[in-house]
Amino acid sequence: MVTFYRRLPKFEYLAPRTMDEALSLLSQYKGRAKVIAGGTDLIPKLRRRELKAPEYIIDLKGIPDFDYIKYNEGSGLTLGALTTIHSVENSPIIRDKFAVLVQAAESMASPQVRNRGTIAGNICNAVPSADAAPALLTLEARLKLVSPKGERTVGIEDFFTGPSKTALTDGEILQEIQLPNLPKSAKGRYLKLTPRRAMDLAIVGVAVVVIAEDGVCKDVRIALGAVAPTPLRAKKAEAVLKGQGFDAEAMEKAAEVAAGESSPIDDHRASAEYRREMVRVLTRRAIQQVTS
Ligand SMILES: Cc1cc2nc3c(=O)[nH]c(=O)nc-3n(C[C@H](O)[C@H](O)[C@H](O)COP(=O)(O)OP(=O)(O)OC[C@H]3O[C@@H](n4cnc5c(N)ncnc54)[C@H](O)[C@@H]3O)c2cc1C
Repeated sequence: MVTFYRRLPKFEYLAPRTMDEALSLLSQYKGRAKVIAGGTDLIPKLRRRELKAPEYIIDLKGIPDFDYIKYNEGSGLTLGALTTIHSVENSPIIRDKFAVLVQAAESMASPQVRNRGTIAGNICNAVPSADAAPALLTLEARLKLVSPKGERTVGIEDFFTGPSKTALTDGEILQEIQLPNLPKSAKGRYLKLTPRRAMDLAIVGVAVVVIAEDGVCKDVRIALGAVAPTPLRAKKAEAVLKGQGFDAEAMEKAAEVAAGESSPIDDHRASAEYRREMVRVLTRRAIQQVTS
């Protein structure tokens, strides 16, 4: 049973108006402050007393100019730290060029949560079931992290370091998500298995991007969510398909190898065995859907 407390624990609420101000507050209150974007994950966790309350909450939402979707033919797409799940779901350019991310966004939460919650918050939260994570892994996203010392860019594969753990150091903020362009022939699919209740987190999430030419697999990216301590790329499964045609045998073999690359746990939502089997089923189905 989940216990909700009526009252939030006490903290001081800070509302910077610029990213520099947010960074300076974060370094001033090092180790005692947390940032929020939409707050759709952090605030319920504080209410449920799942986290020790920080002394300060730094709300990024009031900072202008970080809620954007920009597209460039050469360099690709960029999303700001405050770009909501709703904006991604409704973006014609993302639907056209990076459809797998739209499918992940559509699969998440409720319209109310999608209106406030951000894609950046989803990955900084870093739960293994975060729906944006497998999609962004297949899109080989680059993440721009800023701190008072400057900025650095990390590949999303190096971002998730453990359950609810990321490469963000104390004092850093994820400012931008960058997606390089894909070849025109690329097709993507995100499939999510949930319990029958609406608004549930993934039991298994599988994202696939396939780049094919004349029926031959030129490149493929397969990413798995909710079946390991972090979201991950299934690279051995990708190697099975590269250079092959998409016959039933090759797809089944790749799906089996992807299942072998997962390391799910048993919990109250599903057994490890069921999750592994569902990785196989969803991987094969996703590849079939983008290649038929
Ligand atoms: C009813 C309900 C249903 C949900 N369903 C789903 C679902 O189906 N799938 C799913 O994946 N999630 C789901 N969620 C979880 C949550 O809504 C999403 O993860 C959302 O994307 C979080 O974004 P946010 O901006 O609200 O994050 P916040 O709550 O603001 O922040 C989450 C974490 O990220 C950190 N953070 C946020 N932004 C930054 C930044 N720019 N730089 C550094 N750190 C940052 C915060 O410090 C915090 O630790 C659900 C939540 C609720 C309440």
